[in-house]
Order: sequence, then structure tokens, then C-alpha cells
Amino acid sequence: MATDLGHGCNQASPPARIGILGGTFDPPHIGHLVMATSVREALGLDVVILMVAGDPWQKTAAEGVSPASDRLAMTQAAAQGVEGLEVSDAEVRRGGPTYTVETLEALSRQHPGAELFWILGADAARGLDTWHRHEDLMSLCTIVVVDRPGALMEVPEGIHVSFVESPRLEVSSTELRARAAAGRSLDFLVPPGAISVIRQRGLYAGDDDGHRRRGASDARR
Ligand code: ATP
Ligand code: MG
Repeated sequence: MATDLGHGCNQASPPARIGILGGTFDPPHIGHLVMATSVREALGLDVVILMVAGDPWQKTAAEGVSPASDRLAMTQAAAQGVEGLEVSDAEVRRGGPTYTVETLEALSRQHPGAELFWILGADAARGLDTWHRHEDLMSLCTIVVVDRPGALMEVPEGIHVSFVESPRLEVSSTELRARAAAGRSLDFLVPPGAISVIRQRGLYAGDDDGHRRRGASDARR
């Protein structure tokens, strides 16, 4: 169920163990959902929040990203009805560059005493030492890394992480945008609700390189 955790006012008692999977979600896919549910189960988390990135500062202006409203709508549709998954627009509402450390600080304030787990794939983990205030970030959460086909399971020196097993799924938003632009099916790779949003809004259609307004690099941080 999609919930606006950013306001922190719609829960009777805050969850004690909160996972956060940050991403551009352009579009969300089974890789995201399977890693979120695998980590939730493995670590006994109360909830995993799909945190939709606002303005990804590590992308160049030329690459661009689909509008946040479209990415939020797809992600909410993807998580709809999945127990223990929520979607937050907190980073989108905050505006400006998206810094994970600020998201974690906000969540700590909203959920005092909660244990936070920042979840990411092995490709994203390799750049953790470039993230803004990464040492503060490590003091705010446990960083949880899952394997990703094509990425080495390595983290930069000095970065402490926990590894969690999850099925390895060779799928990426970049590849899915290209498939959609080529008129190929997204069935079983993207949840049906998110496919409906893509169709209704005409996303990813009609670009020669398979991307409407963006390139392939990672959004974080
Ligand atoms: P793009 O190709 O646009 O970069 P993506 O598929 O990498 O999209 P993101 O929204 O960039 O998706 O990823 C958000 C997080 O999910 C990152 O930490 C990334 O490593 C992780 N992730 C995405 N897909 C997978 C996958 N198939 N297996 C493991 N981790 C994944
Ligand atoms: Mg990525």
C-alpha cells in the first residue's frame, strides 16, 4: 500500500526496523521488488520503503530523468497490495539535489528509536565512497547490499555493509526503457499496474535511443 511516510502522521506506532530502497524507478521492475521483499524477509524488517529519488545530482543535465510524478505513479502502482512495501515521495517533495544522508536524518527524526537499513544493489554499492557525507550516513543506518548480475560484490575500503541473499535478476530500468521504446513487451518484468501507468501516460515511447529524456547511469548519490 502506498503511504506518504514523509509526513509521518498516518501510523499509530512507528515501525522499529525500517528498510529503505532508494532509486530512480524509471521504471520500477521485478529486480527492485524482489530485492525489497528478500531483504525484508531476511532481516525481519517491518517495512521497506521504496524511496523515489527527486533530482539525481550525479546525472548530468543532458541525461535527464522522467518526471517525478510519473516515476511516483509507476512505483505506487508497482507496490500496490504488496505487504510490507510502501512508497515515499519525501525526496521528491524536499526538492533540490537528492542526498541519501538527509533522507536518513529525516527518517530518524520521524521515527525515533527505529533501526534503519539502506538497501542497494552491488552496482550502486561500488560508488558509496562518493556519496555525500557517507561517514555520517554509515552512522545512521546499516547498509545492506544485494548481488546484481554484471556487478562485482565489492565495496570501497572503509565502507561497512551487510550482504543479503536475493535471487539474481538480470533486469534494469535502462533495458526496460529500450524495450518499451522498441514496442516490446514489459510483461512479467514490470508489475501490471506500472505497465498500465506507462501505457496511459505514453512513457518511453518514440525516442530513437530508447530513452525518452535520459541516459543509463545511476542516480545515486
Ligand atoms: P537504471 O538502469 O535506470 O539505472 P536500475 O535498474 O539500476 O535503473 P535504479 O532505480 O537505478 O534501477 O536502482 C535502484 C536500486 O536498485 C540501486 O541500488 C540498484 O543497484 C538496485 N537494483 C536495481 N535493479 C537491480 C537488480 N536487478 N538486482 C539488484 N539490484 C538492483
Ligand atoms: Mg541504476
